[in-house]
Amino acid sequence: MFGKGGFLFQWIFGNRNKCFICNKKAYQPQMYLDDQGNRVRVCYKCVPYAERRALRKL
Ligand SMILES: [Zn+2]
Repeated sequence: MFGKGGFLFQWIFGNRNKCFICNKKAYQPQMYLDDQGNRVRVCYKCVPYAERRALRKL
């Protein structure tokens, strides 16, 4: 079931949905801008931390 294709799928989506702060898979990620103006994803758990770091919400 989860052969090479499953791994690739997980790799693509895992990286895409990684939280910028805790680096774990982000559920319901929020989009923020980091210091360099890059769009980053922040999971709901780390939103308060992102706000403290003065990341700008998109
Ligand atoms: Zn997080």
